[in-house]
Amino acid sequence: MHDISPHRGTLPAGVIWPVTTGEVARILSWTYQNDVPVTPWGAGTSTEGNPVPTKGGLVMDMTRMNKILDVRPQDLQADVQPGVLRKELNRQTGKHGLFFPPDPGADATIGGMIANNASGVQTIKYGATKDYVMKLTVVLPSGQVIHTGCKAHKSSSGYDLTRLFVGSEGTLGVATEATLKLTGIPSHHLAITITFKDLASASEAVAVLIGSGLEPAALELLPPVLINLMNREQHLNLPEEPSLFCEFHGVSPKMLQETADLARELCRDCGATGFKFGIEEKDRRELWRARHEAWETIHRAHPKKETLIVDVAVPISTYPQMIVFSQNLVDEYQAVGYVFGHAGDGNLHVVMAGDPDDKKEWSALEKINQLIVEKAVQLGGTCTGEHGIGIGKSKFMQLEHGDSYQLMRAIKDLIDPKGLMNPGKIFL
Ligand SMILES: Cc1cc2nc3c(=O)[nH]c(=O)nc-3n(C[C@H](O)[C@H](O)[C@H](O)COP(=O)(O)OP(=O)(O)OC[C@H]3O[C@@H](n4cnc5c(N)ncnc54)[C@H](O)[C@@H]3O)c2cc1C
Repeated sequence: MHDISPHRGTLPAGVIWPVTTGEVARILSWTYQNDVPVTPWGAGTSTEGNPVPTKGGLVMDMTRMNKILDVRPQDLQADVQPGVLRKELNRQTGKHGLFFPPDPGADATIGGMIANNASGVQTIKYGATKDYVMKLTVVLPSGQVIHTGCKAHKSSSGYDLTRLFVGSEGTLGVATEATLKLTGIPSHHLAITITFKDLASASEAVAVLIGSGLEPAALELLPPVLINLMNREQHLNLPEEPSLFCEFHGVSPKMLQETADLARELCRDCGATGFKFGIEEKDRRELWRARHEAWETIHRAHPKKETLIVDVAVPISTYPQMIVFSQNLVDEYQAVGYVFGHAGDGNLHVVMAGDPDDKKEWSALEKINQLIVEKAVQLGGTCTGEHGIGIGKSKFMQLEHGDSYQLMRAIKDLIDPKGLMNPGKIFL
């Protein structure tokens, strides 16, 4: 069993598909008594080996716990089981004019998104999954069922255990129910593509657009080489220059026209070479479909290769430096690598293609990954902006967290003293 990463684990002894919290509790109680490792599984779209079993045992596939239990439009909330898919949730909440904004591109399960604290193109305006989880039912490794959080929009009551479980990658227990916050679907959208002479100027414009108060809903940086692949594959006609793909949300076309005018002026001052915008739904859909399929597009362009995806995030002011650093590394090592990212969050990806069996080629890609992570941490950033630690990033935890890493380890040992929940992840 594997996700989209090159990380390979061990075959589990079995796969189990629970359908209720009670069943999960009974299974975990049994696995705890019998020292059997358990690895929760959502849609398997992770990029760091997060749901890949490393010590055999049971894989607990959560996809049959896929009921939307309640949607409460007046409260802007929904109660869901963890196997609900993000797109299905948005189809159902959309009937009430509401949506769940975190969008990792892939049609992930809500449980997998919670466990990885997933985010995506609209995080710059709407936040990450952690900002939308109000309440959780979690089955602890021993089989004990606990409830965290509440349905009030604010609370200062005690330790925030909900957020401890968000991003814990299934290492502390299995989430079996969640109350999620929803938000209103914006009535009008503006999609803009802006081109620049080089990636550095494009990334410098990012801080200007954010600081302008225009509140972009998406701000993505793309290199010409990736746009070229998108044009070829999807028959688009995008200019093959360093570009920003932006989106703004507003209450009227007039307001969005004013936003476009101001954004154009700001980008011109930053040396933009082109500016194209549209408020038609088709303009927007075309742009984002191409962006969302960036990984698939790269993968299809190198069908015999595996991909190693670098995912780091840095303070916005250092984003241009990080972009130039990463592109220079790709060039220096003569790697097949595409530098792009959720620029508005200071989140950078480099998707590199190579053959894990070609030791020389693959160790160069791993070296690039390591140097980019070290640089990001040195700049005050993080080794993962959104994909989580899984297997691939565990070696960087000490570097990033120092003493706090030991505290995380102590929390893990307290909740999972036998180390049975998703072993081999987050901790070395
Ligand atoms: C093309 C592509 C683009 C992507 N782009 C983005 C992006 O922009 N942003 C982003 O954040 N991610 C992105 N991802 C990564 C991935 O989609 C997300 O991390 C997603 O949240 C994983 O969800 P999943 O359902 O596939 O979970 P899985 O991969 O199956 O599991 C993820 C983790 O959750 C744990 N888990 C699953 N269910 C539960 C549960 N009920 N209780 C406890 N633990 C559980 C697993 O053990 C594992 O550790 C992308 C992936 C692909 C393939």
